Amino acid sequence: MSRRANRLVFEGIGVSPGYAIGRAHRVDRSRVKVPKYRIDDAEIPAQLDRFEAALTASESQIGEIRDTLTQGSSDHEMILDMHLMMLRDAMLVDATQDAIRSDRINAEWALGKVMRTVKQMFANIEDEYFRERRTDVEFVGRRVLRNLMGTGQPNLSLVRPGSIVVAHDLSPADTAFLTEKAILGFATDVGGKTSHTAIMARSLELPAVVGLDDISQHVGTGDTLVIDGTHGRVIVRPTGEEIARYQRWQHRYATHLAKITAVRHTPADTLDGVPIHVAANIERPDEAQSAMEAGADGVGLYRTEYLYMNRATLPDEEEQYAAYRTVVEATGEAGATIRTLDLGGDKLIEPIKQNRELNPVMGLRAVRYCLHEPVLFKAQLRALLRASAHGNLRILVPLISGLVEVRAVRALLESCRTELAAEGVAMADSVPLGAMIELPSAAAIADLLARECDFFAIGTNDLIQYMLAVDRGNEHVAHLYRPLHPAVLRVLASIVTAANTAGIAVSLCGQMASEPGYLPVLLGLGLTRLSMNTTSVAVLKSAARAVSVIDCATLFAEISALDTAPAIEACVGLRVGEMLKELDLDDLVAPLDGGD
Ligand code: PEP
Ligand code: MG
Repeated sequence: MSRRANRLVFEGIGVSPGYAIGRAHRVDRSRVKVPKYRIDDAEIPAQLDRFEAALTASESQIGEIRDTLTQGSSDHEMILDMHLMMLRDAMLVDATQDAIRSDRINAEWALGKVMRTVKQMFANIEDEYFRERRTDVEFVGRRVLRNLMGTGQPNLSLVRPGSIVVAHDLSPADTAFLTEKAILGFATDVGGKTSHTAIMARSLELPAVVGLDDISQHVGTGDTLVIDGTHGRVIVRPTGEEIARYQRWQHRYATHLAKITAVRHTPADTLDGVPIHVAANIERPDEAQSAMEAGADGVGLYRTEYLYMNRATLPDEEEQYAAYRTVVEATGEAGATIRTLDLGGDKLIEPIKQNRELNPVMGLRAVRYCLHEPVLFKAQLRALLRASAHGNLRILVPLISGLVEVRAVRALLESCRTELAAEGVAMADSVPLGAMIELPSAAAIADLLARECDFFAIGTNDLIQYMLAVDRGNEHVAHLYRPLHPAVLRVLASIVTAANTAGIAVSLCGQMASEPGYLPVLLGLGLTRLSMNTTSVAVLKSAARAVSVIDCATLFAEISALDTAPAIEACVGLRVGEMLKELDLDDLVAPLDGGD
């Protein structure tokens, strides 16, 4: 973090490209330190406005609570009326405004000072009733403070359209909830490139930076922010000059993206004529349509667990069938790969009270959880089989560790098929069943798995996490999360060989697939099928059209002789820069070393 006056610059991990300029909405449920900073004369009006906005928000919240009171709650009404009066009392309002002006400090700091003085005044009153009113001052003052800082109240529902959300962390459920909110971008203290906040930001096509240390402690709701998701930078309270510069970049980015987007439906054949299959990863059924419009060759990964989030009850077979049918119908000939429930780890859901686990990433999650809960799993498998009647559907199973799980899933799938057939329900004659290769154990026995799986999807987000023992969501070890680690590359090549030998399709659907800088490496080791966030589809197709597989194979042979990740990154950075220079990707892609 670097500092000039009250303007702050934070460097983090850019996880979703693009630029956003807007007002912050700070989300935090924990008790937080009041931010304190000095301001220039020119910033006094903005701080007074923030204070006024917080007062108005507090008034309407208290008004709303008052309106919901039933008849006969006159005591409560009286108290709330008193709070409403206090909110506009000169003792609180004028004094805070004076402190902002004369001490040249931010609104939170000023209000905190005034609250202390007023409480002290009440504490010195003899009369017990009046003395106790200091708790009301505290109540009212804290509400205003929380509104200023965006903390406390379950305030995701208070996020205004057009805000930039700043938080210590956001759970996948939070981000799924924010989907509805038309926000401009995200900035969080924690997280890595493949954390689920990052995935969601990309799928919403919102610029986002994570791993920003303690940014949430330095931002108040209403502060102006710049999010530079391309370079992993956030500017808090930027200068007018910076705002103007980022507006220019925003414009340039949009123009560049528009050029690439214009040719999104052109097939991604390499210079030497190898067709590259570029599919999309989606989290919601309606995204299937937008993925196709973005030029995707179908859906390569639909993460169905998002259908289970932010709700009090589980989706039943009928609802799931409707969702899967929507996806499969939208994707036409290209079809959709729908992944069974990948719950657990950091993806928890309300209706199922999962056990607290010491090490959830290695716990009862994904296929392990599904096999443990066959009733829940069968509802999903039945819905998938029913949806298969409407198009080209493939079923993908996450976190496979060995053949026992593949066989157990196949047996359950067959029993669902028998049941549905007896009920006279239409289904496709056969539905391909594939395994995510995302555990080191699965990678090591890819040849054995390939005999009994119809296809593979390599999940590098988890595969790298488990191979290198680097938590994908932990910014403190983000510098160790290296997709170009020689161990990762060897394993990727061996999985592709195993699939090719067995004659089954293999795709890669982790974040690595979304970054043009890795494309020549992936093509060089033999992959021709990729699945990625929708925003990257057009960019990756352009990149594929700009390279030849023969050159990529030469590059892969060259880096296979190198022995460390930094050496490989340096070599790939150089070569790929040359291979893709026509595309001028600087604005669109982050550095190859994972953004650290
Ligand atoms: C992966 O692990 O690479 C993957 C695609 O799945 P998820 O990110 O949902 O774990
Ligand atoms: Mg995974």
